[in-house]
Amino acid sequence: MMANPFDLTGQVAVVTGANTGIGQGIALALAAAGADIAAVGRSAATETVEKARALGRRAEIISADLSTIEPVDRIVDEAVEKLGGIHILVNNAGIIRRNDSIDFTEEDWDAVVDTNLKSVFFLCQAAAKKMIPRIENEGGRGKIINIASMLTFQGGIRVPSYTASKSGIGGLTKLLANEWAAKGINVNAIAPGYIATNNTAALQADADRNRSIMERIPAGRWGSPEDMGGAAVFLASAASDYVQGHVLAVDGGWLAR
Ligand code: NAP
Repeated sequence: MMANPFDLTGQVAVVTGANTGIGQGIALALAAAGADIAAVGRSAATETVEKARALGRRAEIISADLSTIEPVDRIVDEAVEKLGGIHILVNNAGIIRRNDSIDFTEEDWDAVVDTNLKSVFFLCQAAAKKMIPRIENEGGRGKIINIASMLTFQGGIRVPSYTASKSGIGGLTKLLANEWAAKGINVNAIAPGYIATNNTAALQADADRNRSIMERIPAGRWGSPEDMGGAAVFLASAASDYVQGHVLAVDGGWLAR
């Protein structure tokens, strides 16, 4: 019988921002596919870890504030120490700040770009430094999944640092794929559409914005964190071994309009 190419048994997945929202949805989808989970974040991902363990996986919390790159080496060291390796990295932690560009502050610029882009690059680097020697010595593969956005493709409005960071994620994903594909690491991204999480609470609460968003989504509804699971399992698994530098929109058809 052909092996299941989506099976993640024996793989260790490090997921940032795994306590809630898209990060939790992805962590639990990877766990359901067989992966052990290192749930990284500044808020303890207790619920995520408990649910992953209930699926029969090993799961550990790694406390880290990714507003600076200070914790990146420790995160991968702890994943190796607690779970024996790092095969999959999901860079999901992210923030958004809204204001008119004319009034936008340096603080709101730096906070978003540092968390959403700078820390992502240096965590990719730290993970690849563990993945590459392991792949050279033992075989196997490495999988990096960055969380992009519709604003990787579009401009958005009143979110200049967010758009810059997520557009940057698109470019960074391709650059890292170019450098690391031959070393056995797949670097790809998921671009979620409008997903009902804390991050979009303000939009969901704004009746006018909510209506105009819903009217534009061909699927006719906001996405859920669980909707990201299939794409994450695909990009984390052997099924995507020849997929490199791709930004996969999971958006209910938003970009098709
Ligand atoms: P969310 O519910 O607000 O979750 C964001 C996650 O990032 C939380 O776990 C949060 O931890 C973590 N985080 C933020 N700053 C951090 C820091 N300095 N250090 C460590 N962790 C930090 O939002 P979400 O919608 O699930 O967002 C997840 C990702 O998807 C983000 O990159 C976001 O830009 C992206 N995205 C979301 C949508 C959408 O429609 N929701 C669309 C496109 C892309 P705390 O709980 O401790 O704050």
